[in-house]
Amino acid sequence: MRANQPSIYALGDCAAAGVPKLANYAIYQGKYLGDSLVAPVVFPIKYPMPVTAVFSLPRLAQAGVTVMQAQAEPDQYQIREKSLAHWLNYQRQHDDQARLKLIVNRQNQLVVGAEVYSTTADELINALAILIQQRVSVTRLHDLFLAYPSVATDLYGIWV
Ligand SMILES: Cc1cc2nc3c(=O)[nH]c(=O)nc-3n(C[C@H](O)[C@H](O)[C@H](O)COP(=O)(O)OP(=O)(O)OC[C@H]3O[C@@H](n4cnc5c(N)ncnc54)[C@H](O)[C@@H]3O)c2cc1C
Repeated sequence: MRANQPSIYALGDCAAAGVPKLANYAIYQGKYLGDSLVAPVVFPIKYPMPVTAVFSLPRLAQAGVTVMQAQAEPDQYQIREKSLAHWLNYQRQHDDQARLKLIVNRQNQLVVGAEVYSTTADELINALAILIQQRVSVTRLHDLFLAYPSVATDLYGIWV
C-alpha cells in the first residue's frame, strides 16, 4: 500500500493490491492501515474469506469455497444443493426459483462455502458467512434464537 513516497499510502480502488475493487476491500484496507500506523509490530495484510453479491433480481451471492473449486476437488469437498422455494419465507415472496448450494469439507463436515440464488440472497449469504467464518456446527446453531420470520431463521434447516 505504500507509494514511492514513504508517507503516502494507496487504498481501495487506486491500490494495486491484487484484490477485487469493491467497497468491503477498501474499508478493510483502511482499517488495516489505521491499525498498522499505530501498532508496534506490523503484520502483512490477511484478507478474510471473500463474500460477494450481485444485486440483481433475483440476487446471486457467494461466500468462501466456490462450487467450481469444490467440483475440481471432489475428494475434499461435497456439494449439497437445496431448493428453498417451498419454505415459507420464499413462498410469501413468490420466489419459486430460490435455491442454495453448500460446500462441505468432507474431513470435518464443516460448511466452508455457500452460493445462494434468491430475491434475498444478499441477506442470507451474510448470515451464512458468519457461521462459516466462526466454524459454527449444527449443534451450536440449535441453541440460538432468531427473530421469526426472517431469512436467517431458515438457517436452522439449512445448516444440516
Ligand atoms: C456503479 C458502481 C457500483 C458499485 N457497486 C458496488 C457494490 O455494490 N458493492 C461494493 O462493494 N462495491 C461496489 N462498487 C465499487 C466501490 O464503489 C469501490 O470499490 C469503492 O468505492 C472504492 O473506495 P475508494 O475509497 O477506493 O474510492 P472512491 O469511493 O471512489 O472514493 C474516492 C474519492 O476520491 C475523490 N477524488 C478523486 N480525485 C480527487 C482529487 N483529485 N482530489 C480530491 N478528491 C478526489 C472522489 O470524488 C471520491 O469521493 C461499485 C462501483 C461502481 C462504480
